[in-house]
Amino acid sequence: MDTLPVLQSLSNAFGVSGFEDDVRGVIERHVAPFADSVRTDVLGNLIVTRHGRRERTLMLDAHMDEVGLMINHVEDDGFLRFTTIGGWDPRVLVAHAVTIRTRSGATVRGVIGSLPPHILTAEEREKPVPVDGMFIDVGARSAEEVTRWGIRLGDPAVLAYPCEPLRDGTVLGKALDDRAGCAVMVAVLERLARETLDLTLVCNFAAGEEVGARGARTAAYQIMPELALAIEGTIAADVPGVSGPRRLTRLGAGPAITLADRSLIVSPRFVQALERVAEEHRIPYQYKRPAFGGTDAGAIHTSGGGVLAGAVSVPCRYIHAPLGLLRLSDVEETIRLVTAFVADADRLFE
Ligand SMILES: [Zn+2]
Repeated sequence: MDTLPVLQSLSNAFGVSGFEDDVRGVIERHVAPFADSVRTDVLGNLIVTRHGRRERTLMLDAHMDEVGLMINHVEDDGFLRFTTIGGWDPRVLVAHAVTIRTRSGATVRGVIGSLPPHILTAEEREKPVPVDGMFIDVGARSAEEVTRWGIRLGDPAVLAYPCEPLRDGTVLGKALDDRAGCAVMVAVLERLARETLDLTLVCNFAAGEEVGARGARTAAYQIMPELALAIEGTIAADVPGVSGPRRLTRLGAGPAITLADRSLIVSPRFVQALERVAEEHRIPYQYKRPAFGGTDAGAIHTSGGGVLAGAVSVPCRYIHAPLGLLRLSDVEETIRLVTAFVADADRLFE
């Protein structure tokens, strides 16, 4: 499988936290040929198993949900009010195209309305619009028309733009956090499809990470792994005006190994195992600077009696915004690192 079309199919799929059905269907089609079993649990995690020679279990995790919006009021004149799902900076929302997913699975396009500068007061110009002051315009003339189009309270929405390759191996897309990680996990399953594994490998495509690692926590309870590795699309801030520790990772320098974030301090044993694999296979890597953000690894490592857990990430610019940007070489190197890690994990943690 080529990485780009897989990544595009994943990035384009709808999957706001709690509404992961569409993206889960896409992933299931990709991984079914490479799995011994595939199942969906109560919270919506897609749990994919490859049996190994031993009972000892390694859990990989990438979350399939994305940050989004939820309709919470319909105005009489047909405008929609909304709340946010997951962490948004309200300043990136205004004036963007949105796709609302209705209960029937149909989609309705619209735009988050904005006022032209001509009619803004001096004070309005200075202040960002709060989320509760924003509205989605789907072109409806009345609340009744909105209802007729199938839109209801609680319907989720995303800021939706198609995933497209740019020049020289870079890609622009929505939801690269964490469809980049999902693409890595799909590729790892494919590359190991013909290998006999020492450890049992369970890949969890997690639901609900953006609202508090909800899926990873319950999946880990079921899987009870000895080891776990979360794969993220993480913050790259190698852009003008950002320096020092806020420049968490950079594009083109390979997978970013987490040392510590707000959810987890990775055991040095785990960090060293990842470094060893990278060095043995001549895979470039970088560190994600402590201690920003969190991943599913945080929820997994405190599950059950405790799990030795770590995280590696594909650097992505502009996460939690309408469009992110990544470099395919970073995705490829992350696939190589995780594949080698899975193949060697038994030896690494002897
Ligand atoms: Zn994420």
